[in-house]
Amino acid sequence: MDKRETLDNLLREERVIRPLPQFVAEANLKPGQVQALRERAESDPLGYWEEAAEELEWFRRWDAVLDESQAPFYKWFPGARCNIAHNALDRHIETPNKNKLALIWEGEPGDTRKFTYFELHREVNRFANALRSLGVRKGDCVAVFMPPLPETVVAMLACAKIGAVHSLVFSGYSAKALRQRLNGCKAKALVAADGYYRNGKVHRLKEVADQALDGANGDVESVVVVRRTGGDVTMREGRDFWYEELVRRERKEASVEVVDAGDPLFYLYTSGASSRPQAVVHSHGGYMVGVQRTFSQVFDVKATDIFWCTSDPGWIMGHTAAIYGPLLAGTTTVLYEGHPNYPQPDRLWSIIERYGVSIFYSTPTTIRTLMRFGGQYPRQRDLTSLRLLGSAGEPLDPETWTWLHRQIGDENCPVLDTWWQTETGMFMVSPLPVSVVKPGSVARALPGVQADVVDLDGGPVERGEGGFLIIRKPWPAMMTGILDDEDGYRACFRRVPGVYFAGDLARLDEDGYIWVKGRSDEVLLIAGHRIGTADIEEAFISHRAVAEVAVVGLPDRIKGVTAKAFVVLTPDEDPSDELLRDLERHVREELGPIAAIRSIEFRESLPKTRSGKILRRSLRDEELDSPLDPIRDDS
Ligand code: AMP
Repeated sequence: MDKRETLDNLLREERVIRPLPQFVAEANLKPGQVQALRERAESDPLGYWEEAAEELEWFRRWDAVLDESQAPFYKWFPGARCNIAHNALDRHIETPNKNKLALIWEGEPGDTRKFTYFELHREVNRFANALRSLGVRKGDCVAVFMPPLPETVVAMLACAKIGAVHSLVFSGYSAKALRQRLNGCKAKALVAADGYYRNGKVHRLKEVADQALDGANGDVESVVVVRRTGGDVTMREGRDFWYEELVRRERKEASVEVVDAGDPLFYLYTSGASSRPQAVVHSHGGYMVGVQRTFSQVFDVKATDIFWCTSDPGWIMGHTAAIYGPLLAGTTTVLYEGHPNYPQPDRLWSIIERYGVSIFYSTPTTIRTLMRFGGQYPRQRDLTSLRLLGSAGEPLDPETWTWLHRQIGDENCPVLDTWWQTETGMFMVSPLPVSVVKPGSVARALPGVQADVVDLDGGPVERGEGGFLIIRKPWPAMMTGILDDEDGYRACFRRVPGVYFAGDLARLDEDGYIWVKGRSDEVLLIAGHRIGTADIEEAFISHRAVAEVAVVGLPDRIKGVTAKAFVVLTPDEDPSDELLRDLERHVREELGPIAAIRSIEFRESLPKTRSGKILRRSLRDEELDSPLDPIRDDS
């Protein structure tokens, strides 16, 4: 393809990629079967999901598939009793999966650890017992502030097994952000590593945890510390315990807590439309059914696969696609601790080569970061074990799609762009491996999911026009609530009455394919992470020199979006480079490195509406010299 053609493609993406005959011949679901499933799901959605539930083990069967009597608080599988840890782990011990690898872990310095299903099961049992001996009971919340380590997976499954609720907090967050989340979910225990390796540096995590605990509400009774880097840590007598010492004395058998399908499994914080972090709640029953079905379908999982999702376990992608999905499907999952460029930009390709990864699932930001270095690094590695590639978290632009398809998949692997969210729990809109793919589009809703693009009144949009992405009917892995925020939860179903409003802008093309364009509210998607502009603004305002601030998102080649802040100083402050650096440091301390601020500009004043609202939109247009979205958000 010449340059001109590439440019044309990017400007007006029209390519249609058909699956290779060889792939179709070997696929679990052939195109005809996919069609039959779609028809089945359309004519009888509840029957469709009931069949999915029957593939899992339950301690008591459901009285109904779905109870809609208190909508939008939908109850999936009411009356059923189950436990996701039983399905993700214990169940496999009775099958040939027992001695299969469940987890391959690699640390950034190059150390590795592997666990069969049997070994992981034992480790989880030991830690489940340890949590119980620390007094953690069903319904208690355990915060997990960990890098990607085997113990992170163990902690999650151990919580699930005893009916405790895990709440992972991304290890890059600041002490303040952790404290806010510990308080929010009233965590009774905290699991943290002493530190971790990233980009060749040691990060001292326990220190951050200690700062967070200082001044926290005091709900946390015990802290379990996993030794990773061996650095010095302060252990508080009676509160802090070494993981190794706790599990060493525990039995390798543990009873499973039988929970209701609707009992909470995890809380996961995200930036919602209100821009305050909200803890999305997911529950055992519906989540495991939705995740197991969509994960197996989208990734065409086979007994011999080695699956790798590069996401940190601290995000929903890590929960669903790195841990619960692969384990429910009985496949082998890979977890990597460190930075994709360390020690050089072939790290991911070398992991694929060394472990024979067959399914690779990552984010556009990660791919774009590596794409910058061209094809030389992937070319030096044998990537022929790959058979399927996937992406999620942000729009996968056609250029990045094409690079993945050619340089990584050698044009032999389907590249699937999957759309979903923390709130949806499971994959929602995605091509299946045998689907016709259009680079840049997430294709159509999966069987059993009813996605659509509508205008603000909920009315249909013309084919080819932009609108808002909605989900018309409940789906099993949907969030079951937002912690302590009933109204926030209801609001997701209020904007267009009765349907779930995803908060994303999208376009529906003439074939019914969906093209997601990004967020529609005041939430930025920086490197795939949702960050409320209000959160960043609040961090600025808490600096003594700042009188007013507006934060806007700007397109960025690597991260998709980065933030720019326009700052008005208090009268007695003068702009200076020193102040600029101090502000950068301050915001970093408040929010952690996640709030990637591209630049800060000092202004005399900010543009406002007559009612005094800051016109972020016009600041953004000023920067871009042109409008950004087809649909205007009225700031
Ligand atoms: P989170 O809940 O943090 O995973 O963020 C979910 C948001 O990420 C969605 O609302 C979208 O804005 C964005 N997103 C996720 N997957 C995709 C995708 N495949 N294409 C475009 N945007 C996506």
